[in-house]
Amino acid sequence: MKVGLVAVGQAGGKIADALLRYERNAGADIVAGAVAVNTARADLLGLREVDPERRVLIGGDRVKGHGAGADNELGAEVARDDVDEIRDAIDVIPTSDVDAFLVVAALGGGTGSGGAPVICRELRRIYEEPVYALGVLPARDEGGIYTLNAARSLKTVVEHADATLLFDNDAHRESGESLAGGYGRVNDEIARRLGVLLSAGEARDPTPEKVVDASEIINTLGRSGGVASLGYASAPLERKRGLFGGRKQIAEDALESTTRVTATVRRAALGGLTLPCELQDVERALVVVSGPPEALSREGIEDARRWLETATGTPEVRGGDYPLRDTDHLSAAVLLGGVAAAPRLAELRAAAVEAQRNVAAIAERAELSAGIWDAEGLDPLF
Ligand code: GDP
Repeated sequence: MKVGLVAVGQAGGKIADALLRYERNAGADIVAGAVAVNTARADLLGLREVDPERRVLIGGDRVKGHGAGADNELGAEVARDDVDEIRDAIDVIPTSDVDAFLVVAALGGGTGSGGAPVICRELRRIYEEPVYALGVLPARDEGGIYTLNAARSLKTVVEHADATLLFDNDAHRESGESLAGGYGRVNDEIARRLGVLLSAGEARDPTPEKVVDASEIINTLGRSGGVASLGYASAPLERKRGLFGGRKQIAEDALESTTRVTATVRRAALGGLTLPCELQDVERALVVVSGPPEALSREGIEDARRWLETATGTPEVRGGDYPLRDTDHLSAAVLLGGVAAAPRLAELRAAAVEAQRNVAAIAERAELSAGIWDAEGLDPLF
């Protein structure tokens, strides 16, 4: 599946860079064109993979290239004001090559948080292809304003995107790792997951037993504004030199391959989700198993698909394989569409309501304290 990639804000740009790097290193063909949008000139200059011609600085009059801070209302406003420039840059992407648009942004900041919903709405207004958002949720310890921004942005983006794939920064933090220190690793992780999923339908040689094409990914994500989560797990494979030398073979029998496939899919769906959720809370699922052809047990993939059907309680579970010759790993990507509930979302909403109340109380206090100068008997200087 090929996407028209639109990155908004700092994190969005870095994730787009990571996906383009993945595409190049893996020799994949999954991005039809990429555009990066930002209010911060320095962030745009720092990108490595997005074509410099496709980087759009917005809000120049308002913020002079210095970014929107964590003000997502400002982010939304400048994206609305400069929507023509954004549209012109995206227009260059050949839509005949595009199966879907993917708008990538962190939801907790300013530019991406405010701009992503505006851009999704505009893309949906113009194009027939589905418009998906990839939203990064802030870590819990980033504070109330990030939480409030993320909740308001998410509430808006689900309304304007066909589906929103969420990535929870907290769920992917390694113990002892600082949030900022882990961004590079986390972005590569996002890129690998998306890369495996999107590449599946593009596989040519070796030929898959069961191709996962773009329409299966689109049907799993849905087009009714749902939330999605993407699981991933991989397992090393042992290669042994054959009796007469030659190319090393995967040292496994059929039973081992079957078990390895089902175990890897379970790990992806139960422990490796971008947005942790219960499997019974999803409406649709898609599994892609990738690795050397001899390790892609057909029976294992079918068993894993059936297991997902039982675990989710939905018959809408699709599955396929993505053979790769030169890898020593078996990996599984599990896409869950129509996520009806997730503990992190309930928590985010409650924390955001609380943060919104505090913001309102502070504004009221500020009004009161400004009022102390209203007292009569004191004249201003001019
Ligand atoms: P914007 O430029 O105003 O849209 O703001 P950012 O993109 O910096 O958004 C801030 C949020 O994104 C915070 O929750 C950060 O933790 C998170 N963030 C910033 N950079 C990255 C990154 O490179 N990767 C990931 N996954 N999250 C990031």
